[in-house]
Amino acid sequence: MYLDHNATSPPSAAHLQQLFAKLGACAGNPSSPHAFGRQASVALTQARRAVARALTVDPSEIIFLSGATEANNFATVGVLHAQGKPLSLQHVVTSAIEHPSILEPLRFGQSKESLNVDFISPDSQGFVSLKDVIAALTEHTTLVTLMAVNNEIGTIQNVKLLGDYLHFKRYGTAADCNASFAEFDALLSPKVTKEQLQKLHFHVDAVQAFGKLNAREWLSLGVDSCSVSAHKLGGLQGCGALFLRRGRRYQPSILGGAQEKNRRAGTENLPGIVSFGLVCASLENGEWWDNVTKMDVRRRRLQDSLAQLPAVQLCSSLEGGVPNTVHFCIKSGLGRKVSQGEDLLVNLDLNGFYASSGSACSSGSNLPSQVLLALGLSIPEAKNAIRISLSSEITDAEVERLIAFLHTQLSVLI
Ligand code: PMP
Repeated sequence: MYLDHNATSPPSAAHLQQLFAKLGACAGNPSSPHAFGRQASVALTQARRAVARALTVDPSEIIFLSGATEANNFATVGVLHAQGKPLSLQHVVTSAIEHPSILEPLRFGQSKESLNVDFISPDSQGFVSLKDVIAALTEHTTLVTLMAVNNEIGTIQNVKLLGDYLHFKRYGTAADCNASFAEFDALLSPKVTKEQLQKLHFHVDAVQAFGKLNAREWLSLGVDSCSVSAHKLGGLQGCGALFLRRGRRYQPSILGGAQEKNRRAGTENLPGIVSFGLVCASLENGEWWDNVTKMDVRRRRLQDSLAQLPAVQLCSSLEGGVPNTVHFCIKSGLGRKVSQGEDLLVNLDLNGFYASSGSACSSGSNLPSQVLLALGLSIPEAKNAIRISLSSEITDAEVERLIAFLHTQLSVLI
């Protein structure tokens, strides 16, 4: 039973069949002027429209690239370098639990070009306070970047409300004002002007939200860009998209041909893009969202059953979590081995349950997860983490089998 859909959600046989049929009819390079090229270009356009519809944005605002890592680099490095001032004069607000594809470019800017970055700590459940984000803004802030859903523990951040607030401060009228805005206003430095906020870029890493939460729940007019990735929702690996709002400043990181309207050079990854388009078209079906609702019921059942075990420290939030992710640590205690989590993962694997200890991007490093340490967990607890990320294909019976297995393994740990 594959339980690592936050790392990659493998394409179904039906998807691959549909994809091969479509690719067979468009074998050329989308930039070629002849019939083969035109067919490829039509497929590219159709996929772009499908991604744009799923995100409720305009197709011209979609840039295809190699994945969300590249999209996040574009939205950090590419946006900061387009601001017309050195990085040493710029300030960024982000959270301490972002994906490495956000954290690493920002840390690089900090160490090489004296970029000033505030990494806001989450609370013990992994929620980032918008009040802390707003209070951190200075007259030098040019970029705010926050993830919509955390990839390890699945907590949902209220990026929509932050986008709504920014939009209100940039262009709003009193009629757009919401109850929380007065609280935010009290925290916003008077040095932060409307003109500055109009230029400030707000990026959302929406990789783990896309396809699990409706875009209306995290995208708002105040969001200037967001990154999404095909392989997290059943498309091929190596393809992602950046929504970049029209008129926002950027500097492309890959130079060459005029593909993607000069925003990202290189022959388009047509198989990946067509696959992404097909998956996004499924998001228009009510059936997709009915299945997400059913998956959420199973996630709740799994999380509730684990909550009964004394050895388990749940890190995922029941009410504030994405519909597919359950995350827990084995509490450190008398007589427990440090490798308890690893042992459990091996036993799961040997019994046909393929889960993970956390982010695939950090596996292989023996270090505890930075996300878990930021929640205040101890190093032994953080090293004993298990993440179970479901897909909507997993049935009730399979979840019950998983629960029974976890109970036999974990109930012996008092
Ligand atoms: N952001 C988040 C939240 C992710 O979970 C991932 C994938 N682990 C990425 C960015 C990077 O995506 P990709 O694999 O497409 O580079």
